[in-house]
Amino acid sequence: MTVPRDTKKIIAIQEELHSHLPSDPALRVRALESLLVEKGLLDSATVDRWIEVFSEQVGPKNGARVVARAWVDPAFRTRLLGDATSAVVEMGCPKLEANSLVAVENTPRQHNVVVCTLCSCYPWAVLGVPPTWYKSFEYRSRVVREPRVVLGEFGLELDDDVEIRVWDSTAEIRYMVLPERPPGTEHLEEEALAALVTRDAMVGTAKVAAPAAGN
Ligand code: FE
Repeated sequence: MTVPRDTKKIIAIQEELHSHLPSDPALRVRALESLLVEKGLLDSATVDRWIEVFSEQVGPKNGARVVARAWVDPAFRTRLLGDATSAVVEMGCPKLEANSLVAVENTPRQHNVVVCTLCSCYPWAVLGVPPTWYKSFEYRSRVVREPRVVLGEFGLELDDDVEIRVWDSTAEIRYMVLPERPPGTEHLEEEALAALVTRDAMVGTAKVAAPAAGN
């Protein structure tokens, strides 16, 4: 049968194109933006502000609430690790129509880090839009080859006996890291815990830091 071979060939061509060209919607958005700016209906600073809101506020805050809930509610944690796609919807995150979400849990013995080696697939429902470094060729190629070195460059030094697992996202499956709850947070409520959780901790390039003394 020739179909599987042709299918493979088509996928290979698509992947090749995908790695070099901006996606069609990206081109269209750029064209639309320049047109709106040209007509004076929009300025680029507003666009940047929206991007900032989406990446810094809307997105990662969703993920942080999910992580905090998993820390305080063992039944939710089980649901999250079993079926993250449904569990995050339960927390009010946008429903992922075209792909599924997998949550991978950090432990004292295993650290997880997420990448998309092909392009920039990212769990947008919980984290918003990816940071520039996530989309960079350097991160995408190096984190799989030398994760410990790359994490060190992010300021994350892991002991030699901690196993590092790198999860390669695809169009179908997106990953988020469930970081470890830092020590000294036993007294904190869910909302205060969520405020500690950073985007990078959910990508796996950082840990969640313990709250500063006095907090
Ligand atoms: Fe991708």
